[in-house]
Amino acid sequence: MALKNFDAMIDKYAELIVKVGLNVQAGQRLSINGKSFTRGVPLNGAPLVRAVAKYAYQAGATLVDVLWDDTETAIQRFKHAPRDSFDEYPTWRTKGLAENAKNGGALMTIYAEDPGTFDEFDQDLVAAAQRAMVQNMDPLSQLLSANHFNWCLVAMPTVGWAKKVYPELSDEDALEALFETVFQLCRLDQDDPVAAWEDHIATLHKRSQYLSEKQYSALHLTAPGTDVTLGMPAGHIWESARIISQPGVPYVANMPTEEVFSMGHRSIADGTVTATMPLSYGGTMIEDFGVTFKDGKVVDYKAGKNEKTLGDFIERDDGSSRVGEIALVPHSSPIAQSGKLFFNTLFDENAACHIALGRAYRTCMQGGETMSEEEFIAAGGNVSLEHVDFMIGSDKMDIDGITADGEAEPVMRKGEFTF
Ligand code: ZN
Ligand code: ZN
Repeated sequence: MALKNFDAMIDKYAELIVKVGLNVQAGQRLSINGKSFTRGVPLNGAPLVRAVAKYAYQAGATLVDVLWDDTETAIQRFKHAPRDSFDEYPTWRTKGLAENAKNGGALMTIYAEDPGTFDEFDQDLVAAAQRAMVQNMDPLSQLLSANHFNWCLVAMPTVGWAKKVYPELSDEDALEALFETVFQLCRLDQDDPVAAWEDHIATLHKRSQYLSEKQYSALHLTAPGTDVTLGMPAGHIWESARIISQPGVPYVANMPTEEVFSMGHRSIADGTVTATMPLSYGGTMIEDFGVTFKDGKVVDYKAGKNEKTLGDFIERDDGSSRVGEIALVPHSSPIAQSGKLFFNTLFDENAACHIALGRAYRTCMQGGETMSEEEFIAAGGNVSLEHVDFMIGSDKMDIDGITADGEAEPVMRKGEFTF
């Protein structure tokens, strides 16, 4: 890596992740996984994993356990494995992750995949592998949405990813440019990144508090191709960067993060939304797409590319066709201002307002963490195996908050907050 101070930057990144992101506690175990079909971290994540291990042990972690993977090996499977074997799953991996989370451990997830890696393979096989992973992840996903443990999702650039973002550069220059951008968007170019994050967290917290106090009954979103009313359940909470886990550990789940987010009402959504960015789902790019809701449920969807993949997750279960998250991000956010499409949800979702189909976060409803599934659903909360974010915001988006007595108040105009 030709990047100046690469090792020093990785070290700073790891320190920020352990101290502000995960906030690893003395006595905690830390599991590290990836976003792949088997939850392994691709081998190029090693420099970050090692640096994180250092800071985690310094913080008193009793064990740092890593699930590794190798994209090339996964490709051999898609090329040569029996065509009917793609529901096979290494269940010990997700069982182990869930066991650690249940026992009070922390979890770090590293996004280090090339977008579109599996585009060239039979999409039925990709869908089968994705389905097996999502199903096996369910116990962990449930603990996660119940806010049972502290976790953090971060990214580690790869050459394939960098070339998507900077196609005009050579492999090496593209990788260097993407590292630089990621470090900058994570505020690692600041003298004191930890202090810079504290300021940022405070700003986001003010926004989410304001919206929580408003208790809008719905949001009305309009932009070219989008005109939708999304209901919000009584007692919803707007969250932002810092969340406190049930056992009481404050943590930041995504780095970077620019959003304030809450939950939509699972049975109140009417109208059409058009995505403003492509979506990378399990390594497959879905492009030029939109969905139409009626009474909370997707009744129609279309995509210019990989419509089948879009349909696969929408039709996964009842909840995957309903809204689980509404997130607001101003167009002036540094990620939007970079003007780049990252082909990676962690970055792209922090550049634009988005919604997620599928599971809602229990933290977004008062008392949600301790409700039974039936109670949560009855209160308007959505449950699903899936949680898929996609971007609908732009500098042309207007949002009104609808008050309890049906009046509309401006929340965003041309992609910026009005308050
Ligand atoms: Zn979000
Ligand atoms: Zn989300």
